[in-house]
Amino acid sequence: MRKPKILIVDDKPANLLALGGLLADLDVELVEANSGADALAQTLDHDFALVLLDVQMPDMDGYEVAELMRGNRKTRHVPIIFVTAAYKRETHIFKGYESGAVDYLFKPLEPLVFKSKVGVFLELFRHKEELEAKRRELDRKLVELEELQQQLEETNEQLLYLSVTDGLTGLSNRRHFEEVYNEEWARSLRNRTPLSLLLLDIDHFKAYNDTYGHGAGDDCLRRISLTLSEIVQRDVDKLARIGGEEFAILLPGTDTPGAEFVARKLLLAVSTKDLPHGASGTADYVTISIGVASTVPDRMLSPRTVYDAADKALYSAKKQGRNRVCSSPQFFVELGDDSLHNAASMF
Ligand SMILES: [Mg+2]
Repeated sequence: MRKPKILIVDDKPANLLALGGLLADLDVELVEANSGADALAQTLDHDFALVLLDVQMPDMDGYEVAELMRGNRKTRHVPIIFVTAAYKRETHIFKGYESGAVDYLFKPLEPLVFKSKVGVFLELFRHKEELEAKRRELDRKLVELEELQQQLEETNEQLLYLSVTDGLTGLSNRRHFEEVYNEEWARSLRNRTPLSLLLLDIDHFKAYNDTYGHGAGDDCLRRISLTLSEIVQRDVDKLARIGGEEFAILLPGTDTPGAEFVARKLLLAVSTKDLPHGASGTADYVTISIGVASTVPDRMLSPRTVYDAADKALYSAKKQGRNRVCSSPQFFVELGDDSLHNAASMF
């Protein structure tokens, strides 16, 4: 910590010398001024712990100096002790306090009293400096903390994104799809609105990989993803890659005819991409099969039931020769079937 500075102001060199002598054994830096103007100039150049100010000086007296110091933001709070031989009358003492003095001492100075008073101000100054240093340190840490907080938020956002995204295609992954499916199921149940689920497979994808290699297979998955996302465009719809070459599409507020319409559009979009597939037994380009299941969610049904129905429909589409859409028959609730009572969650 830097040494505290004390400004001693007196128009008489002998008095400056005497004051300096009294303060000699304190661990402080003394700065002298021999006029009011000089004192004001010094207060702008230094941060003083204390100013010992002679009252009676030619041109500008101690009171004026004190008033000007109080009028300046930099020096407003610097403590001042007036030191004077004259003006012992009380009115003058009050004048000193009005101009902002914090103490008033009379010459000849009693060394012990004088030093103990100065010591109090030095102690206050050191305390103030310590607080100031701690405040700066806190400010620095606060900035650091804000930066860390920012980094943490960014990392969390990335983690969240990664945790719900399929790395290869950038679509939602299976985990995210399950979450959204359960949420949409609950919403449709509340609102009594239809909900449709499409499960979709790329036909003969294993043969595609075996023929063209896994790099080409990945490329094919990305192209199909892009094609699907060009058709599935409503904000409420959810398209996800839920397995190797398996995709799922959730269409809230969509009934069976609507879902079948979307499914046929997807089928057409993929086939018109005309991605060559020499090892497909179905066509000489890449095709897809789609299973559709729609319902208005009911407490007697579970998300799992509808999922299984879409899966069955997909199986039928494949069995019937692929490159086609199959719809699940309408649901009917059979009381007594335990699987239908477990309507809490799909997975
Ligand atoms: Mg004087």
